[in-house]
Amino acid sequence: MGVEGSHALASGKEIEVLGVVARLRIQERFVSLQGEGTRVGTPSSFVRVSGCNLRCAWCDTPRSSWAPEGESLELAELVEWCATGPRDVVLTGGEPLLFEASAQLGQQLRAAGHFLTIETAGTVTQPGLEADLMSISPKLSHSTPWQRAPSLAPRHERDRLNLGVLASLMTGFEWQLKFVVRSASAIRSPPTSPRSRRCSTSSGSPTRIVIGCC
Ligand code: SF4
Repeated sequence: MGVEGSHALASGKEIEVLGVVARLRIQERFVSLQGEGTRVGTPSSFVRVSGCNLRCAWCDTPRSSWAPEGESLELAELVEWCATGPRDVVLTGGEPLLFEASAQLGQQLRAAGHFLTIETAGTVTQPGLEADLMSISPKLSHSTPWQRAPSLAPRHERDRLNLGVLASLMTGFEWQLKFVVRSASAIRSPPTSPRSRRCSTSSGSPTRIVIGCC
């Protein structure tokens, strides 16, 4: 069942097939305000790619990871749809960087004048990748689904951090980091909201470190 399978993790071969035909499986697309990070409050088109190499126990987008769904769309159609919306586009997932076609889509969106943010867990990358902002959410140990899916947990634990990829994304692009923690006590300064807190500089402007609670 591969990427489309209910609990299977995506394999490289399946990813190549999707990329060659310049299509991406899209779980949802919508226009909203960016809710976090340096672009907070910016009207943005969100394009959520279906398929993920990880299985976080607390994943809040299971229809793009644990039980991936969505329609296969040509990149041209996605570019056309984004052209009708705001300048900012957020390519998210799932894990968009699993797919070669995400790099192609990024090139086309930037060529069309969009400000492109890519949201990724930072475990994989693609050649030819372009983005104006890489929003990276490295997965901490509590993400591993030891209780929820013991058979998938070892692979998640092995793949959830890739320091080489993280380094390449943080040196190759403007970046921001988002960490999901288990509780407010896990961070030195507790969040003002139980779900999410944007760290701010002393001047009150958003910074590129975001802490969220699962
Ligand atoms: S990396 Fe993101 S999309 Fe994938 S399982 Fe974890 S939270 Fe869900």
